Amino acid sequence: MKIVSTITEVRAQVGEWKKAGNTVGFVPTMGYLHEGHMSLIDAAGENDKVVVSIFVNPMQFGPNEDLASYPRDLEHDAALCEAHGVDLIFHPTPEEMYGENFYSYVDMNVLTQELCGLSRPVHFRGVCTVVAKLFNIVTSDKAYFGQKDAQQLAVIKRMVKDLNMPLTVIGCPIVREEDGLAKSSRNTYLSAEERKAALVLSRSIFLGRQMVEEGEQDCKKIIAAMREEIEKEPLAKIDYVKIVNLDTVQQIDKISGDVLAAIAVYIGKTRLIDNFICEQQGV
Ligand code: AMP
Repeated sequence: MKIVSTITEVRAQVGEWKKAGNTVGFVPTMGYLHEGHMSLIDAAGENDKVVVSIFVNPMQFGPNEDLASYPRDLEHDAALCEAHGVDLIFHPTPEEMYGENFYSYVDMNVLTQELCGLSRPVHFRGVCTVVAKLFNIVTSDKAYFGQKDAQQLAVIKRMVKDLNMPLTVIGCPIVREEDGLAKSSRNTYLSAEERKAALVLSRSIFLGRQMVEEGEQDCKKIIAAMREEIEKEPLAKIDYVKIVNLDTVQQIDKISGDVLAAIAVYIGKTRLIDNFICEQQGV
């Protein structure tokens, strides 16, 4: 496995692989890897070569967010990648990615104007821009994203479709801790007490999913039950609990078609997200 930090090195290596007829899978991450990331890397193993990027992208963090404190551990990440058969890690500096003068952005309407886009106004512009750049640099056949960040997955799929980017985006299921908490690099921010409190997220998600599976179609009722579950926990503060159409990320009143139920909740100072997806209900 190689670890490189320049765009030139990535292009040279991937160019060589492609010339030899290899397919390439790509997993973009911000590092501090856990089993959620590894599930994407394992899925990318269906390609001949696997590239992982590790880049804490300043552009997708708002001014009062956790860019400076975001956890980083390249040595640990490299060992995990090596063990899972990754061929190349791309670990650029912000200067390598954005240089001194950077003026071009990929922006998106509609899909980014709900859920996390409301509380994190610059987030998706940063995500789309960096992912578009990474796609142009790595030129993989496929790229793998987690449903943990369901809105991000919907946004990336739409960007690839709208801008005719020549690759396939593959969504992979949420990987959870044994007690239900969705794995996240940000879970390391939680104290022992907060870690316990954070279980309200998955409890609320499982409750909502069960209601849908049992035939409840009224989104208001489902959201009310999910909110009630979260409000039982004194350390939890709701950012949002919403049900949207999975493709448009617009709120809906009745469960129908492909549906995303998504929540964002502060546990102390840490903002965590979780969701469930129901495909083709009631059609
Ligand atoms: P991040 O490093 O947090 O930007 O995440 C990189 C990729 O890993 C994104 O596509 C995430 O959706 C995915 N990911 C993060 N956590 C999980 C998880 N618990 N299960 C599945 N995928 C995940």
